[in-house]
Amino acid sequence: QCITHCPTNALHSRDDVMEIANLLDKEKNPDKVIVVQTAPSPRTAWGEDFGLDPEFATERRMAAALRRAGFDYVFDTNFSADLTIMEEGNEFLHRFTHKEDYAWPMFTSCCPGWVRFLKSQYPEMTDQLSTAKSPQGMFGAITKSYFAEKIGKAPEDIICISVMPCSAKKEELEIPNLNDAKEGIKDVDYSLTTREMNRLFKYLNIDIENLPEEGFDSPLGSGTGAAVIFGATGGVMEAALRTCYFVLTGDNPDADETFKAVRATGSDKPWVEAEYNVNGAIVRAAVVNSLGNTRKLLEALKAGEVEYDFVEVMACPGGCVGGGGQPIHFNEERATDRAKVIYNYDSNNKMRFSHENPDVQTLYDEFLKEPLGEKSHHLLHTDHQGWQMPFFK
Ligand code: SF4
Repeated sequence: QCITHCPTNALHSRDDVMEIANLLDKEKNPDKVIVVQTAPSPRTAWGEDFGLDPEFATERRMAAALRRAGFDYVFDTNFSADLTIMEEGNEFLHRFTHKEDYAWPMFTSCCPGWVRFLKSQYPEMTDQLSTAKSPQGMFGAITKSYFAEKIGKAPEDIICISVMPCSAKKEELEIPNLNDAKEGIKDVDYSLTTREMNRLFKYLNIDIENLPEEGFDSPLGSGTGAAVIFGATGGVMEAALRTCYFVLTGDNPDADETFKAVRATGSDKPWVEAEYNVNGAIVRAAVVNSLGNTRKLLEALKAGEVEYDFVEVMACPGGCVGGGGQPIHFNEERATDRAKVIYNYDSNNKMRFSHENPDVQTLYDEFLKEPLGEKSHHLLHTDHQGWQMPFFK
């Protein structure tokens, strides 16, 4: 697990459990609306700290536990993972159809460990990062703009908390140009790791073993199968390709088969590559996880030994399911088992494509208007050159 060897500040281990427990005390904070979003990966692992079988420790029981903890709205980062695909997929297609204006390949940008690595080790490639914010960042910006308007609250009266498999996310939310909903306030106020969420449940004496299954709240609580696979290496690439295929052809691909080759879980190669011909457009994709393999890939790109159009990078071995904020088991790596849980959530979901998420469609109809539009540009994208390494808060 990457907690043993992560060089990118992903293991910065600030503990926010007591601060969140105090915020959830309604006597102390009667006027605050407290919103929580949970990333795809915590649902694959949260039950491990309680000795629970994954079939019992579902995302729906995790949602119930968060509700018992006192959060006013229990939302799903899968919602903003779908939104990320709408923005990043369209960004890729824009760059792809204006090839001469950009350096190649385009890199995914949702892993802060990877973004820090690139900016510190290969700063000359920074502009190749997608400008799309991570799902955590997009969620915060939409919570403090669209959702704040919907419930008639000022952004500063909403506290947005994320549950992530990742301690690097604690630092991501501090980066000034990732906070755009309202000047002077953060889009995401706190980020808890999966382990911290579990400690919060223990501190608050949540009766985990007797929880019912409950759903997420609406409207930021829906997610497709394409969103949940963000948690496994290759998942962001596959989700983006599913939607790019739809944009280019007007049809959905076979969600189980068409882009299966980019699923990199358990691969013994340094990175996985695949080439697709979509309506005559040849897209060369590569997926890499862990920073040792990433360095090999970047050196191969620089040496001209390989050429790709779109590259997904995750700093942790196996992707976020193996993240530094997940439950730890000494000398045991569970990323592959957790990835199976992720792909089960995908194949069991009635919605397999980010562009079919009805709440994301409503968000565009009512508020954003279109992917890569003016509001999206302001709220959902960022300039990676706008902050300097090292960045620690
Ligand atoms: Fe965080 Fe996931 Fe990146 Fe690991 S792979 S640093 S858990 S975002």
